[in-house]
Amino acid sequence: MDTKYIFVTGGVVSSLGKGIISSSLAMLLQSRGFKVTIQKFDPYINIDPGTLNPYEHGECYVTEDGHEADLDLGHYERFTNIRTTRSNNVTTGRIYQSVIDKERRGDYLGKTVQIIPHITDEIKRNVKLLGNTGKFDFVITEIGGTVGDIESLPFIESVRQLRWELGRNCVCIHLTYVPYIRAAKELKTKPTQHSVKQLQEVGIQPDILVLRTEKEIPADMRRKVAQFCNVSPDAVIQSIDVPTIYEVPIKMHEQHLDEIVLAKTQTQSVNEPDMSRWNTFLGKLKSASDVVKIGLVGKYVELQDAYKSINEALFQCATYEDHKLDLRYISSEKLTDANVEAQLSEMDGIIVAPGFGQRGIEGKFVALKWCREHDMPTFGICLGMQCMVIEYARNVLNLKEANSTEMDPKTPYNVIDLMEEQKSISNLGGTMRLGAYECHLTEGSIPAKAYGTLDVRERHRHRFEFNNEYREMFEANGMKCVGENPETHLVEVVEVPGLKWFVGTQYHPEYSSTVLNPHPLFMDFVRAAIENKKK
Ligand code: GLN
Repeated sequence: MDTKYIFVTGGVVSSLGKGIISSSLAMLLQSRGFKVTIQKFDPYINIDPGTLNPYEHGECYVTEDGHEADLDLGHYERFTNIRTTRSNNVTTGRIYQSVIDKERRGDYLGKTVQIIPHITDEIKRNVKLLGNTGKFDFVITEIGGTVGDIESLPFIESVRQLRWELGRNCVCIHLTYVPYIRAAKELKTKPTQHSVKQLQEVGIQPDILVLRTEKEIPADMRRKVAQFCNVSPDAVIQSIDVPTIYEVPIKMHEQHLDEIVLAKTQTQSVNEPDMSRWNTFLGKLKSASDVVKIGLVGKYVELQDAYKSINEALFQCATYEDHKLDLRYISSEKLTDANVEAQLSEMDGIIVAPGFGQRGIEGKFVALKWCREHDMPTFGICLGMQCMVIEYARNVLNLKEANSTEMDPKTPYNVIDLMEEQKSISNLGGTMRLGAYECHLTEGSIPAKAYGTLDVRERHRHRFEFNNEYREMFEANGMKCVGENPETHLVEVVEVPGLKWFVGTQYHPEYSSTVLNPHPLFMDFVRAAIENKKK
């Protein structure tokens, strides 16, 4: 069959959950047996979100091929188990960079380079890149931002052109917001009407409208929207707030979103979606009554999205263990020896978060010392693992001024140091050790048992590493390096074997935990936390 292209745009406000709707649709099509991929086009000028801080853009997600990507790619993977790549996330910056490179090479043969057709052609080329591999029946393209933004115009114009070129092989879904005005006790559809008008003005007639709402939208109101917006009434779908994002595919299927897409693209589907495993997960979620309490020690406590993949991985694993997750954010900036006991002792397990820079770092050492001395199940991820090493050096090896050269370039005990290949790099964009690398685990270690294999591949995003000059000293004194890269011998995992569960990974296992394949190391950590709670 021809590859079908589905575009998802948004209107009225941002943060309506285009990524979740795209992921839900992908999951539904996939469970009917279709091969699906999802990509995101972001209208900002940064080449990638790698240089953006979490206040700007939430978590930076990393693909296996080492691309620093928008966090929506995390949703795509968690919902569908697909592995995304560099091609699944393109920004305005990437588009312009490529056009400008071509111009400098002389590829445009003396022509004036313009937004239309050169930028839009480059956008269209990127939209079709994955589809042209012949590997996919459906390519879902989410356009970041909101219709009407100046910076999304070239993307919207490209969608308009593609719609003509692709004809029946193309569907446009527009996601809008229906606010509930409390004082008037009424839902209002006017913003939706305006948003669709705006889309029509630039030449795009949406085929399907998804209305995000807090309250049930009555059928007559949906009919009204359909009438005003030239959309068939059955193609006006509501996306009502649900307790978990993982229920959204079910809600979309109940309103036939997948069938409507199939009908509009004239795609035959013999199979009903097989959502049995997904429903098993949701069933567990509903029936879980016990609670597991995990403390996440980090510096972005007020920001839900900063540790998105960690939250989701914990949530998935707690659910599989029939527990509700009670995740508490603990500000590393505010942790001191005086208050640490009060903040950590009621937890069943502690995660020490990844991160960059000095802010909040001392609190991470305070937390780790307390956890180690009180045998609290503890998981250090990336910077969290590096902090585990530093705390151990300071308080067990007695190297009082031990540090990472990231925090103190002059430390006499650089137990964490800049990687050799990083020393000559000055540009910040896309230059870390990124993406999936091999890791060989020590037989009998906690991670080896958790994974059930000795050779794994995990994703990375870091510049600093465990300094192997100190390895013997750590190992002789109880902290073992139980995972290393087979080529470079870079330490990937540390563990203190005498304790219940005290493991740090230089890599980010959270990126690869999905609803249907929860990550084995997170599963093991959550089990240890539940075990700890029982005692
Ligand atoms: N800042 C540390 C490094 O660059 C850790 C990075 C991280 O936690 N992702 O090595």
